[in-house]
Amino acid sequence: MIQKFVSLPSLIISTLLFSVFMLPAADLGPQAVPVSEKIYLIDGLGESGNVAFLVAGGGVLVVDSGAGPADGRTIVEKVRSVTDRPIRYLVLTHYHGDHTFGLQSFPPDTVIIAQQNLSKNMQRDDDEIKDLLEKFPGRITALKEKIAKLGKKQKNEKTKEEENLKKLEARYAFYRELQLIRPQITVDRGKMTISLGGETAEIISPGPAHTDDNLLVYFPGQKVVHMGDMLFYRHHPYIDWRAGSDTSNWIAALREVQTWPLEKVIPGHGLLAGKEALAEQVQYLTDLRAAVVSGLKNGQTLEQMKKSLALPAWKDLGFPDMLPYAIEAAYQELNKK
Ligand SMILES: [Zn+2]
Repeated sequence: MIQKFVSLPSLIISTLLFSVFMLPAADLGPQAVPVSEKIYLIDGLGESGNVAFLVAGGGVLVVDSGAGPADGRTIVEKVRSVTDRPIRYLVLTHYHGDHTFGLQSFPPDTVIIAQQNLSKNMQRDDDEIKDLLEKFPGRITALKEKIAKLGKKQKNEKTKEEENLKKLEARYAFYRELQLIRPQITVDRGKMTISLGGETAEIISPGPAHTDDNLLVYFPGQKVVHMGDMLFYRHHPYIDWRAGSDTSNWIAALREVQTWPLEKVIPGHGLLAGKEALAEQVQYLTDLRAAVVSGLKNGQTLEQMKKSLALPAWKDLGFPDMLPYAIEAAYQELNKK
């Protein structure tokens, strides 16, 4: 079912996450929850990756933009519920749609910052979306014709197909509205520091990990880091090998972050955590690599590993559907060596 969408990882990931990811506060609607004195996490955005923002003397810096234009509007509203200082910067932790598809809803003078590889990854999504948009009218017409042919005796099937039609039309409207604006400032390997009236944000490009364009945002004055999808807390991680993931460098980067003074760690997905979450992610990736290495030693094919490899220590994590993708990513990386 998922296979036919594999060429569009960020879009599938949004869809998959939508079905399994529920925050406890969802019934209250999204809320800006304080993480530290000057940092807030937006809780309850549903299918989006975690969004956080810093309110400093010089304005606001937001990390990630939600999974669509509606999320982007909600984020701006939630910032406004805390402060009327201007939103100056939007940092995108990486290109996946559940972190970037809300960017068009930010004020037009917001400066967008991303890793240097994000534009090339986003261009690939843009091309796929263009392709998808051309196909929507035909698919909608075909489904309408199918529904029209269904008689009274096929009431259940008709109801099901009418639901599918609604979903298809909603997706068409969603992608038609979408505008993937490119960043104005990019960071390659290394660090960029933004000073914003008494507070600083360190935007760090640790090299390939979850993707080849992931960034970390560290707020030293607040002892808080936003990890983007370099941390899936208590969830199986998605590992995007088509966008140059690297679990070895990922582990090294996590070990480096463990040495920083930190009180709160914001994962890309999962609840707000402490430093222990970083050690868990290191251990998960280490176990995943070990499982794939032993599969290779035993002469298993990728398909056999996807079916049979289990990570017993991590059986209770969320997003269990992600495990075969994680195995595939580790396989692509380790089979080369
Ligand atoms: Zn991601």
